[in-house]
Amino acid sequence: MQLSRFPRVSLAHLPTPLEHMPRLSDHLGGPQIYVKRDDCTGLATGGNKTRKLEFSMGQALQRGADTIITVGAVQSNHVRQTAAAACKLGLKCEVLLEHRVKQPSDLYRNSGNVFLDRIFGANLREYDKGTDFDVAIAEVADEVATAGGKPYIIPGGASNPVGALGYVSCGLELLQQFSDQRLNVDHIITATGSAGTHAGLAVGIRGGGSDLPILGIGVNVPQEEQEKRVYGLARETAELVGTPGAVARDDIIADCSYIGAGYGEPTASMNEAVLMLARLEGLLFDPVYSGKALAGMIDYIRTGRFSDADTIVFLHTGGVAGLFAYADTLRLD
Ligand SMILES: *Cc1c(COP(=O)(O)O)cnc(C)c1O
Repeated sequence: MQLSRFPRVSLAHLPTPLEHMPRLSDHLGGPQIYVKRDDCTGLATGGNKTRKLEFSMGQALQRGADTIITVGAVQSNHVRQTAAAACKLGLKCEVLLEHRVKQPSDLYRNSGNVFLDRIFGANLREYDKGTDFDVAIAEVADEVATAGGKPYIIPGGASNPVGALGYVSCGLELLQQFSDQRLNVDHIITATGSAGTHAGLAVGIRGGGSDLPILGIGVNVPQEEQEKRVYGLARETAELVGTPGAVARDDIIADCSYIGAGYGEPTASMNEAVLMLARLEGLLFDPVYSGKALAGMIDYIRTGRFSDADTIVFLHTGGVAGLFAYADTLRLD
């Protein structure tokens, strides 16, 4: 798998560390747990979108774009990282923000990621939940072009085959780290939303010759729909990198039973997980993605779905900036 033939800009601090969490492992009394620190990708408080943006922005520059258009929820980590990357590359950034949570607090609407989007000077437009974003994005692209600009559209989460290359690369990086650290890993766990992270990882791990199981914990839609999304994108991504068929349908597993009332709506198990990791390991996770994925991992361990002899790697996808938007919602005791 040759990723070097794809245009790419350097945005992330790579490789990100792979660290043991001995106090969490002791506390849960089960498998050994490691964390892949993609919260430390370095751009504007970090996160998983930075790896994807290396390839998306690479293509945007190759095509001579001067304006990036993208879309996300009000507290989108993807939008925040895109806005920062656009600044670093001297591009304008047009953002379509969707109001997805039911009763957003003042902090949710103004703090956390959206506060940082404004610092980066992105042009923010707000839309109701359920807007047809294919239409809305096309309108913004027309507007940019009419004004003489050259738009480049990055889909939500940068989850198309080009963006997913960032996680193909992460999959290969992980296999190298396992080998360097002489780790026999039994499971990888990641949050899965717009699907590019899970899909790219599957292509990287399988394409790198490993049959290691990857468990996605869904944060948005039901299992069948999530697995379909991830598998579809994994197939397209495998084709793009020249390994068609590298990922089988059975390779894609998403457990979507930790979503609670909906995307971005807090759950008690997420709340517990965020405090547990903070107080045992000094690590920060986010309420929308990584916190719910951790809640899933903790539940799997407590219910004996991993063996005590297993070694697990949890992919920390970032999102720490989003914590501040939930400052009045999280319970701290
Ligand atoms: C976007 C995001 C995810 C999910 O990644 P996808 O590629 O959209 O599935 C997970 N965690 C965080 C913190 C994110 O911002």
